[in-house]
Amino acid sequence: MILVTGGAGFIGSNFVLDWIAAHGEPVVNLDKLTYAGNLENLRALEGDARHVFVQGDIGDQALVEDLLLRHRPRAVLNFAAESHVDRSIHSPGSFIETNVVGTFRLLEAVRGYWSGLQGEEREAFRFLHVSTDEVYGSLAARDPAFSEENKYEPNSPYSASKAASDHLVRAYHHTYGLPVLTTNCSNNYGPYHFPEKLIPLMIVNALAGKPLPVYGDGQQIRDWLYVGDHCSAIRRVLEAGKVGETYNVGGWNEKPNLEIVHTVCALLDELRPKAGGGSYQEQITFVKDRPGHDRRYAIDARKIERELGWKPAETFETGIRKTVQWYLAHGDWVQRVQSGAYREWISKQYAQA
Ligand code: NAD
Repeated sequence: MILVTGGAGFIGSNFVLDWIAAHGEPVVNLDKLTYAGNLENLRALEGDARHVFVQGDIGDQALVEDLLLRHRPRAVLNFAAESHVDRSIHSPGSFIETNVVGTFRLLEAVRGYWSGLQGEEREAFRFLHVSTDEVYGSLAARDPAFSEENKYEPNSPYSASKAASDHLVRAYHHTYGLPVLTTNCSNNYGPYHFPEKLIPLMIVNALAGKPLPVYGDGQQIRDWLYVGDHCSAIRRVLEAGKVGETYNVGGWNEKPNLEIVHTVCALLDELRPKAGGGSYQEQITFVKDRPGHDRRYAIDARKIERELGWKPAETFETGIRKTVQWYLAHGDWVQRVQSGAYREWISKQYAQA
């Protein structure tokens, strides 16, 4: 049994589905179901006793303590977070509450549980914290990619809150000996990605005939990893990672945002040509840049490749094609997540330049 937090979100739900398919080992899934949590992502597990869902907050220490004692997991994997940079700029409070205070309360509950374990159970226990490359700050064009040795220089309230959580996890290892592992991963894409993030937003807006909002000049560079590859990296780190270590996870796919949008448009032109002819690229609209927008992130994933033998299975070309195909086949999922609240947020966020 493992305990996953945030398992109804984008990466967490992909992880739970992959985990049960790959291992068959039961999962307790603790998720608050914020706007980003969607149990529909886990519909395939309805009625499956290997998935126990609990709606609740990682910051509710008593609840987490109770779950730990009741289910006695061999590992806790923390995916739960407020995750959208733009939202963190407009309202940073919830980011501090969940990513910093929530992680602290979760660590406290886990520390108490782990202290009570004995023998092999205690030896085998792991706390795996899922984090981001954004904690390292922004790179100039010629800088080498982020390695695990880079210092933390977070620039947004989101990345600062994740950096704080990483530091707490590190401190619980150094101070209390808690057997922790941390992964810092680049931008993920794939099925069940909430359509406020770049790739699903472009697909959804393109199909709806709406503008495709690109921040600034669109030359911000990110490294992209297919979500299934992130899940396999997490499984590998949990299985073989060295306690107390951090592992950078990336796809060696540095691409400017505008190129991503062009690729999505080209795939849609091929797979779902526009009724009236022309290209979806005609819908691209440049909007005012995000304040403090980091220019470039790049991940040096050599450590996890060398020490744990992990490599991504997808190239960007295969992963993005799968992703566009998934969104084309799951229009019903997209429609349901597009609640009134979601639409209001998107219209506030992407004011035209
Ligand atoms: P997401 O926003 O899609 O999902 C987050 C999930 O956490 C949601 O289901 C939400 O309901 C839940 N949650 C939020 N606050 C909670 C709380 N207080 N208690 C319990 N559950 C809570 O995020 P995601 O993109 O799936 O990211 C998952 C993790 O991976 C995050 O920690 C994020 O920082 C990290 N990460 C994301 C990316 C990416 O590209 N999306 C890249 C690297 C790392």
